[in-house]
Amino acid sequence: MIFNASARKSRTQWAKELKGTQHKTFTHPTGCKRGHEKLFSVSEGGKCVECVRLKDRKKYAKALGTSLEELEQKRVNEQHQQAQRQLEKAEGQLQRRIWHAEAKAQPTYAHVYALTCTETDRTYIGSTQNLSARMAQHLSLINSGTHHVTELLADLDAHGKETLKIDILCTIHSGDRQEIEALERFYLDTWKGELFNKYKPRSTLVS
Ligand SMILES: [Zn+2]
Repeated sequence: MIFNASARKSRTQWAKELKGTQHKTFTHPTGCKRGHEKLFSVSEGGKCVECVRLKDRKKYAKALGTSLEELEQKRVNEQHQQAQRQLEKAEGQLQRRIWHAEAKAQPTYAHVYALTCTETDRTYIGSTQNLSARMAQHLSLINSGTHHVTELLADLDAHGKETLKIDILCTIHSGDRQEIEALERFYLDTWKGELFNKYKPRSTLVS
């Protein structure tokens, strides 16, 4: 709380009068000898707030075995580092927002892939817009023995899971489902080996 005092009363007088009120500081037109801002402490009996602070800092510096200059420099450095960290954090958040917006704006990648048992050379062809998730799903279903392509499961059971081969047949930069389905159809139509897909209804081909 700042209180404006007049020059007629001294700083000590004002400090005495303001003691016990809500005022912690007051301004006085005479100023301090060191030319600090004209702000004075009520609790310190009208001493310059900045001078009191400096005195305290000097004491603190002495206790730490360093000089006031070094202590102040350290404080400035810490403030600078903190500001730097905040800036980096803000920049990181902004960058993530940009990436998010870019990812939203861009068409996704789509893949046509083949799962083949190398021993029987029989293949399942599928397509996906999320390759890593889809492959993880296939492998998990194969491992748990619950994959919907039961013939593939049977082949891998008979010849070992190490005979499973995963091929990426093509990758397109598109999120258009019809385009992906057309590509998948192309691979199914032109595939030279035996396909598991023949035994499956059309609706299970795209995932
Ligand atoms: Zn001062």
